Amino acid sequence: MNLIDVKNEWINELSQPLMIAGPCSAESEAQMLETARRIRETNAQVSIFRAGIWKPRTKPNGFEGVGVIGLNWLKKVKEEYGFKTATEVANAHHVFAALEADVDVLWIGARSTVNPFTVQEIAMALRGTDKPVFVKNPVNPDLALWIGALERLLGQDIKNLGVIHRGFSTYQKTKYRNNPNWQIALDFKSQFPNIPMLIDPSHICGNRTGLADITQEALNVGYQGAIIETHSNPDEAWSDASQQITPEVLAELIGNLKVRNSGIAGFDNEMGRHRTLISDLDFQLIELLSQRMKISEKIGKLKKENDIAIFQPERWKVITEYATQKAKETGMSQEFIEKVFKAIHEESIEVQNSIMIDRQ
Ligand code: PEP
Ligand code: MN
Repeated sequence: MNLIDVKNEWINELSQPLMIAGPCSAESEAQMLETARRIRETNAQVSIFRAGIWKPRTKPNGFEGVGVIGLNWLKKVKEEYGFKTATEVANAHHVFAALEADVDVLWIGARSTVNPFTVQEIAMALRGTDKPVFVKNPVNPDLALWIGALERLLGQDIKNLGVIHRGFSTYQKTKYRNNPNWQIALDFKSQFPNIPMLIDPSHICGNRTGLADITQEALNVGYQGAIIETHSNPDEAWSDASQQITPEVLAELIGNLKVRNSGIAGFDNEMGRHRTLISDLDFQLIELLSQRMKISEKIGKLKKENDIAIFQPERWKVITEYATQKAKETGMSQEFIEKVFKAIHEESIEVQNSIMIDRQ
């Protein structure tokens, strides 16, 4: 069987768009039950309650999850509030414990997806399960690695599959914690329209303010739902405090979403898809320009300290040369590229000038 033949009927039994919500980490029984109760009380359309039981943390000595005891709390959430439950598994031991506790949905985290040994171990431990398994994108933008992880699962006869786009790690600081890459996600979707794709705006944004826009954008391009970190008291959360929201804020966010006619194929809105890709590139252009201007500021300071003139004709010549060369290589109009670089260069001179003035 190939990935393209996977049917994934399980998702049709859940409300659409599929919403998964719950805390980044299970912290205590009270925190779990209160979060679940309040999500229920809002009547938000949430089908699955998430909580991390074992937490992959960037640095040691932080909170690494409550461990198996948290599985009992997930069970209680299911019994008392009727949510299906979901957690992350990162090794065979996690899988056995989660299956034993009858967690309904499992996901493989971004840090695991990058490692074929880990994915293979998890897949073998899960062999033959009919529980849905979501694979988050690997931390690096590598489509083959993402698909490879799904193939490893399918190789172990796991046929209820989904993916989660949680953004990609970059060294450059941007407004996102993990940059969304709509192109890679849409490339995945065009190859495997049969595999449900969710958005994880929480780990993309790393804050609370961008969640609604990212979720809406994802629905616009045909995603089937979202997983959103939700906590009874986000400010006091033991992990990812800055990106978690209360159940009430979650309900408002969900209530404001405009659901387009997406369906599993999700490709009916071609215009929306192209616009999303264009906006994404525009944001990247602006980020890059801002990084470029910051370097200009540094150069301005150095010029000032060393008493060097701001405008350096030889340097400008070098820039025009490589810009026109690149324009040729990429088949763009040289005139256009010259115009763009003239504008960038003028602004850069402007930035350097203001530094000179500042320091006088
Ligand atoms: C999470 O969902 O809590 C998590 C750790 O996500 P990721 O694997 O995307 O970092
Ligand atoms: Mn988290």
